[in-house]
Amino acid sequence: MQVLRRPSSSGSRLRAFGAALATTFGLMAALSPTPAMAAPAGACLTGTLAYDHLDAEAGTAKPLRTQVARNANWELWGRTSGSTTRLASGITGASDGRFSACANGSLTEAYVRFRSSSTAMWRVIKAADNTAEYTFDSAHRTNVAGTVNLGTVKVPASLQRAWKVVDTLNLLYWKRANPSSSCWTARQANGRCDEITFVWDPRVADGGYWDYPGTNYVFLGATMPDSKHLVLHEAGHWLQWQLYGRAFPEVTGCNPHYIERSSSTSCAWTEGFADAVAAYALGDYRYVYDNGYSYSFVNDAATPGWDRGDTVQGRVGSSLLDLWASNGPDGGNWDKTIALMTRQFSQNFREYFTVDRPAAGLPVTGAAKQILAGHTIDY
Ligand SMILES: [Zn+2]
Repeated sequence: MQVLRRPSSSGSRLRAFGAALATTFGLMAALSPTPAMAAPAGACLTGTLAYDHLDAEAGTAKPLRTQVARNANWELWGRTSGSTTRLASGITGASDGRFSACANGSLTEAYVRFRSSSTAMWRVIKAADNTAEYTFDSAHRTNVAGTVNLGTVKVPASLQRAWKVVDTLNLLYWKRANPSSSCWTARQANGRCDEITFVWDPRVADGGYWDYPGTNYVFLGATMPDSKHLVLHEAGHWLQWQLYGRAFPEVTGCNPHYIERSSSTSCAWTEGFADAVAAYALGDYRYVYDNGYSYSFVNDAATPGWDRGDTVQGRVGSSLLDLWASNGPDGGNWDKTIALMTRQFSQNFREYFTVDRPAAGLPVTGAAKQILAGHTIDY
């Protein structure tokens, strides 16, 4: 369909073209933001952070759904006397979005401030030249002693897309397959993690790219967070750059690029990888645009309208997803590819498959070779 084909912008911007369950224990255990103070005879504001969102993954009708905001930063502000100060901070629950913000003693006034970020691992900011996160405050309560349950605290409608980005990035973080630190990749050690930054401005329509080699931020236009695939595709570009130790393939011939059309080996590799990251994180086999249109990655030699070979991002992305599939030759997940990428830079899919996979002990014959052949890639 025509609507599925949109040209990308100029320059080196890498745009999205093309649908999780995870352990809910990892982030809470692995990251240690300032813990809420234990509060014997203290004051606590508790509740659940939630946001409404337009669900592009559910189709072009984009029905309004409600979702808890997981691993999102909160701060307890309040005063016993004098001025209001920040008393504690933490993150919402990794499965239920709950918070329990406590201080010692009783408080004459207290409220919870929520920030569009998760620990120091990812954040949504207002603009490239205004790195402030979005924030909003819960209702203020006075004379707080013991536990006061605020119930479900909803993100204001004008800001809900920022928290959708924050919540959606959990899906990738939980699958990052880095056994050595809480950082995004094994390239970094605890306490020295790089943070992924998304810029989202509801007044700006343009976006949908990872700004490399400029700010290295992801820029999203007004409605783009409606698609989790779009958010995770752009995060996928950033992740590849991180896996390569802040290096990225030299990309040519990528403007425009389409899932089913020939571009270049470097474009198909980087865009196919990003498409595969999003689908892998979401546990599906498609790309969903922010208008709700969905494009399947199912393809073979006879699929109408699809070009052939490793210059086609959809051929590369589907090959990766099949290699990583639960019944696939790589052991049922992408973990060995992630580990490989932290050691071996691949300029294109051919190098990844024919040079770097064998070096990492990953199969390139048998089922692996058949997968590529099924997607018209023959090495
Ligand atoms: Zn892209």
